[in-house]
Amino acid sequence: MRGRFAPSPSGRMHLGNVACALLAWLSVRSQGGEMVLRIEDLDPDRCREEYALTLMEDLTWLGLTWDEGPYWQSRRRDLYEKALRALGKDVYPCFCTRAQLHAASAPHRGDGVFRYPGTCRNLTPKEIAEKAKTRAPALRWRAPDEDVLFCDKFRGPQRMNVQETFGDFLVRRSDGVHAYQLAVSVDDAAMGITEVVRGNDLLPSTPCQLLLIRALQGKAPVYGHVPLLVAPDGRRLSKRERDLDMGALRDRFSPAQLCGKLAYLLGLIDRPEPVPAKELIPLFPGADLHRDHLVVQDDMFLR
Ligand SMILES: [Zn+2]
Repeated sequence: MRGRFAPSPSGRMHLGNVACALLAWLSVRSQGGEMVLRIEDLDPDRCREEYALTLMEDLTWLGLTWDEGPYWQSRRRDLYEKALRALGKDVYPCFCTRAQLHAASAPHRGDGVFRYPGTCRNLTPKEIAEKAKTRAPALRWRAPDEDVLFCDKFRGPQRMNVQETFGDFLVRRSDGVHAYQLAVSVDDAAMGITEVVRGNDLLPSTPCQLLLIRALQGKAPVYGHVPLLVAPDGRRLSKRERDLDMGALRDRFSPAQLCGKLAYLLGLIDRPEPVPAKELIPLFPGADLHRDHLVVQDDMFLR
């Protein structure tokens, strides 16, 4: 049994990231598995090595240990290129601008995700050569139009069709950065990950990864999506709330205090008293994680 932490070093870890990391770690440790740390630092505009180092220090401070890694996605680009070659003719260049994409497709679910309408799906070699003179293309994958069935560890049976939600999704951006869906699929399969525990916001993208892993003849992990933390007004807690990032949380709490408060919020213990992470391991199988989100009361993590 192998799980993973897969943080993106685009800033300080936030309360929501900490909750996910704690749950992923508890799940692995409660099954006697191995934890892999993978730094998802492909986007040079957002990611910085100093954030990654702080992130590892924060995980260590919390007592969330790992057995293998860190792996750095930025050093694994050859593997992603190899995967693109393996996908062969099902990968095609897309020359659409952001403005064209927005004009061509209604926003999906209001979460900023757009369904790609397939504009560049059937360009001829001549058209491609012509367009490539003025614009570097992104790459998209001709995703199968089929219902993907899987059983989420916490949320039960799921049925989704990638063509209905995303269309042919990106596998490499026009600036050459490999897309999240591709890198995460390649890595989870290559690293022998058997279980992925992560936030609910990634549930819709799970079928993209299942289809890619199948196309690349890898073995897919089991996925478990955990509730997102939201403010009492229903807004998702965000990185903008500086008083809930690890810098501020570490000023206020000891590791056991912070783990205890999170464990209480997650329903693992009855009172928000200090508990070191490792003492929560035997309690994890009792966690109730099928909900969409968990409400964090205003003052809960402020004192
Ligand atoms: Zn296009």
